[in-house]
Amino acid sequence: MTQNIGELFICATPIGNLEDITLRALRVLREVDLIAAEDTRRTRKLLTHFDIHTALISYHQHNALSRIPELVSRLKSGQNIAVVSDAGTPGISDPGLKLIQAAIKEEITIIPIPGPSAVVTALVAAGFDTDVFVFGGFIPRSGREKREFIEKAGREHRTTVLYETPHRLIDTLRLCVEMMPERPLAICRELTKMHEEILRGYPQALLEHFRETPPRGEFVLVLSAVAEEQKGTEAEAEEDYHDCPIEEAVRDLLAEGYDKKTAIKTVAQRRGIPKREVYGAVIDIPAVHKGEP
Ligand code: SAM
Repeated sequence: MTQNIGELFICATPIGNLEDITLRALRVLREVDLIAAEDTRRTRKLLTHFDIHTALISYHQHNALSRIPELVSRLKSGQNIAVVSDAGTPGISDPGLKLIQAAIKEEITIIPIPGPSAVVTALVAAGFDTDVFVFGGFIPRSGREKREFIEKAGREHRTTVLYETPHRLIDTLRLCVEMMPERPLAICRELTKMHEEILRGYPQALLEHFRETPPRGEFVLVLSAVAEEQKGTEAEAEEDYHDCPIEEAVRDLLAEGYDKKTAIKTVAQRRGIPKREVYGAVIDIPAVHKGEP
């Protein structure tokens, strides 16, 4: 490294529990000239807790473009800077990455200081296959983009980790019920915090839970992978499924505990036919059936 150029430290901080900070992160935060923080108030609390008095500068998604040249120029003038996000590892679904990329372009040395991240914490807590997994970031807010995203995630044969906000979780679970009713999920709430909760189950059961207990706090949604040995049988089952009469397909779903409306929607979607065609075929099946609450 050229002696008079500073270094950029990517410094992971806790996602809740303040004890989850490394000794190295504490030393770096104490020793750097400046900390670029996504949320200065939150970082100030962390620093105060550990009696660290390093100067802070705000760096968030709304000022990233104007702030980057200033931070790069400070680095070039010899200052060492630590970038920290709101929580977790900077660069994962937050503005940290833009600064990292800008610094790399200017040949500034990047020093990662690893630590907590909600992705990995949720992945291991879910207990699904971890040999290969996909991180899909935040689920799109709404509309067609969201539907297509969930539909694609439902076809994914690897464990999938997604970030979601509390006020959109119910809508997301509704789409999961529709598009991947048989896929076990884990919903990780408030990880490492006082109200930490890890709920595992099928989409319908989780949807019912959150209808009764409205979602609060921070969430990571983990979709299980389709087991390797199931892939072959899945394709065969799919063929059989498309050969069987519509009414039988709906009755199978009702027996699995679906309500009639969801069963109709699911069959229409799986077969790529209009819902009214399925309605027509099952008009005689009562709305209330064995297995429905
Ligand atoms: N860079 C961060 C990281 O490494 O985890 C993620 C930043 S992203 C802007 C924030 C999202 O991460 C939240 O909306 C939530 O989905 C997830 N998250 C962060 N902390 C969490 C926690 N304690 N419990 C559950 N999810 C959390």
